[in-house]
Amino acid sequence: MSYVGPDFDPQPPRRPRRRPLTVALVALVPGALLGWGAYAAFGGSDDGGGSSDKAAVGTPTASARTTDSERPSETPTEEPTSSPSTEPAATGPLAGKVVVIDPGHNPGNFQHASEINRKVDIGTGMKECDTTGTATNSGYREADFTLDVAHRMRTLLEKQGATVELTHDGDRSYGPCIDERARIGNKAEADAVVSLHADGAGSGNRGFHVILPGAVNSGAADTRPIVAPSKNLGERIAGAFVRVTGSAPSNYVGGGTGLVTRKDLGGLNLSTVPKVFIECGNMRDSKDAAQLTSETWRQKAAQGIAEGIAGFLEK
Ligand SMILES: [Zn+2]
Repeated sequence: MSYVGPDFDPQPPRRPRRRPLTVALVALVPGALLGWGAYAAFGGSDDGGGSSDKAAVGTPTASARTTDSERPSETPTEEPTSSPSTEPAATGPLAGKVVVIDPGHNPGNFQHASEINRKVDIGTGMKECDTTGTATNSGYREADFTLDVAHRMRTLLEKQGATVELTHDGDRSYGPCIDERARIGNKAEADAVVSLHADGAGSGNRGFHVILPGAVNSGAADTRPIVAPSKNLGERIAGAFVRVTGSAPSNYVGGGTGLVTRKDLGGLNLSTVPKVFIECGNMRDSKDAAQLTSETWRQKAAQGIAEGIAGFLEK
């Protein structure tokens, strides 16, 4: 599955435009990333962000999805005070911030081929509503991986006071479509949105990459206002992901930076709020798959992404 070349934009040299307080943190990112080797080939991602390589229809292994048990309840405070508020105000460094997490694909998409194959308008053209996503060779599905990491991230971010919304939570039979995924973030007026994925490139292609929105202005798509903040968000996530997981940036896209800019993803094109995708690894590579199927590693992945988001929001 070849990467669609025209929309691949090599990362330009970074410009020192950031505020002084953020320089020290952000300066860590290029240094951490640029040391990795050059890419050898292009892997592919469809708008689900995942590979256009459809997952093998096999017997998925038991997924390790977390439950909602970790979520804080929304019960009112037990001792009524003079305040009429029934919910304690969130505290923590991310209080007042809204994060939307978009778990790529849906475990049910396999059973809804006609629905997810219908075309939706992404401004720059028409694209499939959603895709099945990929899977490891042993059958662990990308859609289960993304939900699991989303749950872990939600727990971490809520602990810091953020309001977290998922675009879906295994609570619908398929989808949502990519245009709806974007609208959910827009409607929430999210301060940051991250779409979670794992790639389906060929064996030997390894590592993660963060996908940034390119500037498009066509139809309902106008990413120009979000290009710069999304790049900042993506760089912070990439840096934190390297630091926490120890994973290397992709060796097959992004020229070793772990960053790729694309203009063909509806989930990015239709976003009006800062948003990036992350391909956490390549499910079709056995070494990456060993990480992606590890609960311990997924917790690190969630922590890395969450720390990147927090760094962006606290700026
Ligand atoms: Zn995907």
